[in-house]
Amino acid sequence: MNLKIAGIVLKQKKSIGEQKYLTLLTSQKGIIDAKLRIFGKMNKNISRNINVLGYYYFDIFDGNHGYIIDSAETIESFFNLRYCPEKLALAQYFCELTYLFVPSKQRALRHLNLLLNSLWLLEKNRYSHDFIKCVFELRLLSLSGYMPNLVGCKICCNYEKETMFYVPFRGELICSDCLKNINQKYDIFKLTKPVLYAMRYIIYKDDKDIFKFKINRDQLEYLSSLTEKAVLIFTEKELSTLKIYHQFNEEFR
Ligand SMILES: [Zn+2]
Repeated sequence: MNLKIAGIVLKQKKSIGEQKYLTLLTSQKGIIDAKLRIFGKMNKNISRNINVLGYYYFDIFDGNHGYIIDSAETIESFFNLRYCPEKLALAQYFCELTYLFVPSKQRALRHLNLLLNSLWLLEKNRYSHDFIKCVFELRLLSLSGYMPNLVGCKICCNYEKETMFYVPFRGELICSDCLKNINQKYDIFKLTKPVLYAMRYIIYKDDKDIFKFKINRDQLEYLSSLTEKAVLIFTEKELSTLKIYHQFNEEFR
């Protein structure tokens, strides 16, 4: 069966015979692994031009031995991200997280749009790198079945008390009054009002609006540490691409 499908390349690897294998995120089929056809329709130049981060329109043969890519037409290469090592590291971190969090064998249009929008904003310098990172991390969790419950305190259900705390391990809020009365065994983090507002915004707004809020630099730094912790609970270790991003990020600060 032949498929025409748009997808972004999350990963690629080459075998000994220079056979290229790609991991794609597609809207219709979610994440799929496919190899490039070496002979026949696949032109060598096309093969060379297919890169990680690129978004293409693929012709794919769905056979007994898996997916084989016959041809690809570029929709968006995001090539300019390669000129900035910090942006490139962050873009690769987004791809790595996407690979880990997108549920298998499911349509993934919203995940695909989140990744494409984040890469586009990063390439065009529309927001700071950390801002895009926070939104991406928290929204990805929410889309993937790990949405924190930030409606109100988990015990008294109050939407907002003077001080609210976040429990990343449980993805929950607890207010200062209730905190006094329970034995809290997980790490908790005090939330300022702008940080709680931002987290609610990222989680509950429509897909098209999630980047449309403002936060100052100090609050953003704190938000960034929280969204990283929220992700870390599931990845269990800091991903190598995130470490590289932090190295560049600190270097240029
Ligand atoms: Zn409470």
